[in-house]
Amino acid sequence: MSKTVSMALVRDQKTIGPLVKLLTLEAPEIAKNARPGQFVHLRVNDGPAPLLRRPLSLAGADAGQGTLTLIYRIVGQGTALLARLKTGDRVDCMGPLGAGFDLDCERPLLVGGGMGLAPLLYLAGALCPRPVAVLMGGRSQEELFWQGLFAEACRHIHITTDDGSLGRRGVTLDLLPELLAGGEFDRVAACGPRLMLEGAGRLAARHKIACQVSLEDYMACGVGACLSCTCAGADGRRRKVCADGPVFWAGEVFAL
Ligand SMILES: Cc1cc2nc3c(=O)[nH]c(=O)nc-3n(C[C@H](O)[C@H](O)[C@H](O)COP(=O)(O)OP(=O)(O)OC[C@H]3O[C@@H](n4cnc5c(N)ncnc54)[C@H](O)[C@@H]3O)c2cc1C
Repeated sequence: MSKTVSMALVRDQKTIGPLVKLLTLEAPEIAKNARPGQFVHLRVNDGPAPLLRRPLSLAGADAGQGTLTLIYRIVGQGTALLARLKTGDRVDCMGPLGAGFDLDCERPLLVGGGMGLAPLLYLAGALCPRPVAVLMGGRSQEELFWQGLFAEACRHIHITTDDGSLGRRGVTLDLLPELLAGGEFDRVAACGPRLMLEGAGRLAARHKIACQVSLEDYMACGVGACLSCTCAGADGRRRKVCADGPVFWAGEVFAL
């Protein structure tokens, strides 16, 4: 699949949650080749900027419009620089990178924690009109602005919050056993904290449901050259998160 580096044009940027931005970029070559689960590697070329690019998952791509949607939380220098971009600015954008989700399923359940919901939004849109369900978890109601974003593509939205301000009190793994026990799903696709991914992989395996997980490990080059993001596979062989992943079958990266 072809990757390109381009100076993507900022179409729009808005705040959609606490320290969370939705950025729309015009990058037709990347949008044309993108698929859910892939990511872009960005660098803001405006004065002193971090040396390394910053990876962000595609939360959407529209080949017809030539646009990419990114949803990110401002956590440090790189994302703070990105947040300053205005309509008409340009950002150095490499992509689409990595291996995406397998779409060969009929009744998927998407499981996302926090910003892990970003790649699942693109996946939900690609799987629609199949009956897509999503289980989303966050600290509080304030963090679950995601509900509105998923509403169009998903038939069922299940929610957990740590403080019980919306949906079930607890974390996604508290509600997941109940959802899987219903026998409704033939695929689990998850992105979020590693413990959540491992737990989702185990629960899906117990119900004999194929599960894919998207890892968000630290990475540098993003194209499989520097090996900084390698992780141990369940078979002892090392995997490059940027190039072999970020999406893996759960059994490839976790002992289930
Ligand atoms: C494949 C991939 C896809 C990603 N997709 C998204 C996305 O769609 N939306 C989003 O908000 N974030 C996403 N991330 C995380 C995002 O890349 C980091 O938050 C960002 O690089 C931080 O850059 P910074 O310069 O602002 O912060 P830094 O100054 O580099 O770091 C600030 C804080 O963020 C933490 N951090 C930095 N990099 C990572 C990382 N890779 N994983 C976890 N924590 C990190 C650090 O521990 C530190 O506490 C993704 C990461 C990967 C590897």
